[in-house]
Amino acid sequence: MGGLLSSTLLVKEGKKVLLLEQHRIPGGYCTSYKRDGFIFNIPSVLTGLLEGEIYRVLSDLGLFNAIEWVKLENFAKFVYPDFEIVMPANDLAGCREAFRTAFPSEKKVVDKVFSDIGHLKKSLSSLEPSGRSLRGMISFLTAIPKLISLSGRSYYDYLKAFTSNERLITVLSSLWGYAGLPSKRLPALLLLMMYGECCGKEILFPKEGYQALSDILAKKVIDLGGEIRYKTAVSKILIEDNKAVGVETTTGDQFYAEAVISNADTKKTFLELVGRQHLPPKFALRVDAHTPSASGIFLHIGTTLDLPQFDLKYGTIFYHESWEDSNMFYDKAVRNEIDFEKDDIVLGLQVSSLLSDRLAPKGMNTLHIAVYPISLKYKNSFHIKNGVRGDEYKAFKDQLADTLIGKVEKLIPGLSKSILVKELSTPYTFERYTGATGGAWYDGVFSTSQKFQRPSCKTPVENLYLTGTKAYGGAGMSCALMGGMKTSKTILGK
Ligand SMILES: Cc1cc2nc3c(=O)[nH]c(=O)nc-3n(C[C@H](O)[C@H](O)[C@H](O)COP(=O)(O)OP(=O)(O)OC[C@H]3O[C@@H](n4cnc5c(N)ncnc54)[C@H](O)[C@@H]3O)c2cc1C
Repeated sequence: MGGLLSSTLLVKEGKKVLLLEQHRIPGGYCTSYKRDGFIFNIPSVLTGLLEGEIYRVLSDLGLFNAIEWVKLENFAKFVYPDFEIVMPANDLAGCREAFRTAFPSEKKVVDKVFSDIGHLKKSLSSLEPSGRSLRGMISFLTAIPKLISLSGRSYYDYLKAFTSNERLITVLSSLWGYAGLPSKRLPALLLLMMYGECCGKEILFPKEGYQALSDILAKKVIDLGGEIRYKTAVSKILIEDNKAVGVETTTGDQFYAEAVISNADTKKTFLELVGRQHLPPKFALRVDAHTPSASGIFLHIGTTLDLPQFDLKYGTIFYHESWEDSNMFYDKAVRNEIDFEKDDIVLGLQVSSLLSDRLAPKGMNTLHIAVYPISLKYKNSFHIKNGVRGDEYKAFKDQLADTLIGKVEKLIPGLSKSILVKELSTPYTFERYTGATGGAWYDGVFSTSQKFQRPSCKTPVENLYLTGTKAYGGAGMSCALMGGMKTSKTILGK
């Protein structure tokens, strides 16, 4: 999305743009695909688009009129054994009330956390050019010491300072999967900001699926006079006199340009496409230390089951099979010590056809099940032999899909007997379709110890820029769009 938006904005300002995309469709991680009348999305929910500069930019491009959007009533439901709590969308007070009701003896802690979320949201929106006011700037400046302390502290430590109620800490940490790391590694700032985004803003869902968003941006690039070449992978960024002067594709074609923008992942851009020899040594060491996020598995299901009868109409259902600490679950999963057949896990579910009836044939439903993280080496590297995804890989995917369906059946009885279509994506699938190394879901992780964050689209190589989530702190589609906007503004000198 970052590449699509930066291309659109550059071509709109009269620049000649060529976008090279390795996949056959636009969108990267913001895509959908069709199977037997069912439309399956990769992302679940979109937030943060209806305000600030990004809203103005996307409105100018006609994006809000060109797409039919659904505004979600409830962002999420957090489900644990014998416990569940609903997070309404665009309603921080409602979310706070839900926590106060669920944890009556911890009302003060809940109030403190939600007051911090509210203050942070307000301080950050005062940075937006459109919302800037003297009062807002003063409020932001006074918040700086707090922001610094929250970015160096883990979310777990932040909560632990107010409460020793581990259940409350666990439930207040339920969003960790969206940020890519569990509470003991994740900066408090990030998860508090994420709550502000997910619970304090409108949540949007495109009626036709997320591909509509990417398709419209791709169409804009073309309509405004730009060019997109699909199935064209870049293998090298050409450097002359320490400047990026163009790119070379895997088929050996070379294209020269005044500016090169990369939306490949950070490590790939610098270490594979540019090459260490062209990087300042200190910068190369920072890239070495950059830790990519983990990958996960995604199961899409088309079912004949009548799902409206169940309480499943949420942006995401965070379904925990046990109360096990998510920090332990995460560590075991990345160390490849989890067996999905035997162990309790955490799943993210969405019945997207309950959010938009255009995603499944009449009377049927689409469901997606996400599990994060998973080791690339899970069960003999998913039974891929010598890089070949053969019959054993396919059989293993089927088996893994059945295991996940068995788990979700506790929440949706009868699911296994009503399935018409099932498609399971592994880290290798994500790597193949997005080019992300190891199928990483979020480029780099945002940990308290990650030294190389991604605050800038500028790079030490002249005329080379990053875009998308690689250019703007955070993971998610709105961050990718912000990155796209930032890159084009930088190139245009605005
Ligand atoms: C399973 C999953 C669920 C998610 N759910 C949500 C959600 O609910 N809400 C949300 O906001 N975000 C969600 N995200 C995150 C969000 O989708 C991404 O953060 C965002 O789409 C990233 O956009 P991007 O433009 O930065 O990069 P990408 O989407 O990674 O795009 C990179 C593009 O560059 C292309 N490319 C890479 N290398 C090359 C090369 N060498 N040559 C040519 N082309 C190349 C790729 O094919 C791709 O099109 C989810 C992500 C995943 C994986």
